Amino acid sequence: MAAVVIGAAGAFGAYWYLKFKCVLPIESGREASQQAFGDFTSFVRETLERAYAPEQAEHYGDLVNYYLIRLHKAFPDSSMLVFEKGRGQWQLVNYLKNFKMEPKLLTSYKWSALDRSSVEGELLRFDDVRAGDYQAMEELFSVFDIKSALLCPFQPSGGAPERLIVFGAGSPAQFDAAQPYLRFIASQLSSISRVSDRVFELRKEADGLRNEVNAVVRELDVAGSRLIQRARERKALYEVVTRVTGPGDDEQNGCAAILNIVAKIVEADIAASLLFDEAKNELVVSPGSFGITDADRMLYSIPVSNQASSSVRTFLTRKPFITADAQNDPDVLTRYAKLWDVHSLMIVPICLRDRIIGVLRVGSRRIDFFTPDQLEFLTIIADELAIIIEMVTLYENISRKAQELAQLNKLKDEFLSTVSHELKTPLTTIKGFVSVILSGEVGPLNEQQSNFLAVVDQSVNRLTHLISNLLDLSRLNGKVEMEFQKTDLKELVRESVSTMQLKAREKKVSLSNAVDKELPVVQADNRWIGQVIDNLLLNAIKYAGSGAKVSISGTDKGEAVVICVEDNGPGIPPEEQKMVFDKFYRGRASINQVPGTGLGLAISKSVVEKHGGKIWLESKPGLGSKFCFALPVSKEN
Ligand code: ADP
Repeated sequence: MAAVVIGAAGAFGAYWYLKFKCVLPIESGREASQQAFGDFTSFVRETLERAYAPEQAEHYGDLVNYYLIRLHKAFPDSSMLVFEKGRGQWQLVNYLKNFKMEPKLLTSYKWSALDRSSVEGELLRFDDVRAGDYQAMEELFSVFDIKSALLCPFQPSGGAPERLIVFGAGSPAQFDAAQPYLRFIASQLSSISRVSDRVFELRKEADGLRNEVNAVVRELDVAGSRLIQRARERKALYEVVTRVTGPGDDEQNGCAAILNIVAKIVEADIAASLLFDEAKNELVVSPGSFGITDADRMLYSIPVSNQASSSVRTFLTRKPFITADAQNDPDVLTRYAKLWDVHSLMIVPICLRDRIIGVLRVGSRRIDFFTPDQLEFLTIIADELAIIIEMVTLYENISRKAQELAQLNKLKDEFLSTVSHELKTPLTTIKGFVSVILSGEVGPLNEQQSNFLAVVDQSVNRLTHLISNLLDLSRLNGKVEMEFQKTDLKELVRESVSTMQLKAREKKVSLSNAVDKELPVVQADNRWIGQVIDNLLLNAIKYAGSGAKVSISGTDKGEAVVICVEDNGPGIPPEEQKMVFDKFYRGRASINQVPGTGLGLAISKSVVEKHGGKIWLESKPGLGSKFCFALPVSKEN
């Protein structure tokens, strides 16, 4: 029994012994490590939650700080120092807590332990820092009251200097626990540095690209506005060229128009052409300038001898001139720049082929306003301006000549009219007396006397015919009033044919009337239109010659009545056809053989046109001629 009791007591004792001695320590160790593991896990989780990649390289220090703060929270009694290696020495770049006096940052230290840890890339543990060669750190460690230290290296990426955390404490009690924390932090700082580096690189690349894109956009902007400017200049040039080559009825305004366009395109306040006046040997502002009053224009004329003037120099050298501020440029006569109130100024030569005729002067009230591109544009415009200036000069010359001619023509008409009138009266008297003498009423004539007087009579007839033609012409030129009335052309033709029959018979010409039976009525002055028909018939009889056939036709063409006189005479050579309606023109073949004045067709043309009609000729040499005229049908039928 006792043995049983003793055995039981022994077992009980053994149980508790084992429990206290072995099991309980193991269990508490397991719990402690579970606790430590839990702490570490939540440290990692919380730290990662707030971790970030710095925006810029300079912010890396803040990140390191963040980790140190987290670490210090987990190990409040310890100190954390961060060193960075530079030029063989270690500089203190960051620290946290537990110092007695504020240490100086960026102080260099040379503790071989730091090098060793860095080279091995491993944690180094110094339970008693004074046991080793630590003199270099003695002072710093005393500031932080560090007796034991854990060294943990980490390597930021790329070419960044090596770094190292010194985890310092009064004793190594917490070193085991701190190691995973330090390893975690070191690896985090290394990899974040690597990620950040890549981010920085990408950002740098992006910035570079953005800058490049911006530069390209700026260039495009510049090129775009240049293109727009060029397009505007092209358009202006087109307008100018159209002015120069277009219908010439307004050349006088052409210069003003060009100067206007130029001023608008280069946004100038004045644009003027200064032309060389040979008589005065001066450059003179021509009319039509833009932005200059006539009074100011008159004030501006410069002797070509005055080489201080930029306009004169451009005129003499033919070199374009540009200045940013004419009022403060020693190369410019500032009084003229002030007179016109301009600062920026461009002057280009105006050359007509090889000859310089003046300069184009363009100014702006703004300083430094014009560009070399605009100067080039102006040079091109100046060439066009030269052409228009020449056209204006020609136009003015021609107008002057035309006026002189018109005046002369008027004088001639008046002279002819007066002379004809003066001649007509004595001729009528001569003709009257010659007829009386020829009739024998005042005594008998011998044969020779009769023949001579017949020649006189013929000559008087020709002279009378010429004079009456001249009078007709001068009346037609003098805007004679037509007496329009409803006219049956068939009737006029019939009268004319019957008058001409005698002449035709004399010339052995057969004359036939082939006018339509019915013709619409036209508005005509019977005397003048009758004269046209007479004239055409007389010409046909005269020029077709003996044995020829002449016929007159009249046709209703709806809107008009067409009367044609056709003969089978010699016809008119093509080169003469367009001249037969000119005053005093006589055909080469007829000039010496058939008497005439060269006025009949000119008068006919004028009469028909005064009726709103047309006259024309169809002729083939050797086959005959056909003269036609058309008169519009009267709307009051
Ligand atoms: P004129 O008959 O007095 O010379 P016109 O003006 O009537 O003047 O005619 C001008 C010219 O036209 C004539 O000189 C003649 O050469 C030519 N001409 C006119 N009619 C005919 C015709 N029917 N046939 C050939 N030539 C003609």
